[in-house]
Amino acid sequence: MTDPRIIVALDIPQADAALAMADRLDAARCRVKVGKELFTRAGPGIVHALHARGFQVFLDLKFHDIPNTVAGACRAAADLGVWMLNVHASGGAAMMRSARDAVGESARGAPLLIAVTVLTSLDESDLAQVGMLADVTQQVVRLATLAESSGMDGVVCSPVDLVRLRVALAPGFLAVTPGVRPAGAASGDQKRIATPAAAVAAGASYLVIGRPITGAGDPLAALAAIEAERG
Ligand code: C5P
Repeated sequence: MTDPRIIVALDIPQADAALAMADRLDAARCRVKVGKELFTRAGPGIVHALHARGFQVFLDLKFHDIPNTVAGACRAAADLGVWMLNVHASGGAAMMRSARDAVGESARGAPLLIAVTVLTSLDESDLAQVGMLADVTQQVVRLATLAESSGMDGVVCSPVDLVRLRVALAPGFLAVTPGVRPAGAASGDQKRIATPAAAVAAGASYLVIGRPITGAGDPLAALAAIEAERG
């Protein structure tokens, strides 16, 4: 079993178009991420269809609710056979523990459970508005540390935060990083970006990359160029 490091974000709302994109990729060279819009429109069938094409799926639904509800949602995702799923670390330690208990241990074949720390769309003034009077980076480190002690396999974080996070976390704790842009690529709406090589050097375990691959004329060639650049 290969362990491709690139997760292609299938941010494509319609199932047929998302599957057409998957057909232009290679399941041996990448995983795919299904997010809220595609999943809400297409339902669990999209996950089954991607599995049938040989892809491992990161189900990016960022669960955040009371522990019992999140446990049930995580169990449902695990029953779909996804490779990775995520919850919000700000849901708290009990919620993350319930998620872990619901899916079982990753070492025994359960999906990887990843925690979102602070959404990269939020800055200090946004946090203050919701009563969180902390420095963003401190809050990211605090939530990542809580995620680690609550049995998560890793966190989603920007490559820019990773430098601070890596020193605070165990080496095997996974870092899944969006905001990756090949040198010279359009940044789109991403602000805190790094190149694939810089993200890997900072300690990224997996790179989530959407538009630079899905928006390319030849997505597989774009994937190959990123693999080459990553080194
Ligand atoms: O197209 P692009 O490479 O910007 O796609 C990045 C993907 O990662 C999108 O699906 C986006 O929602 C997701 N993501 C992100 N930043 C986060 C968490 C998830 O860009 N902090």
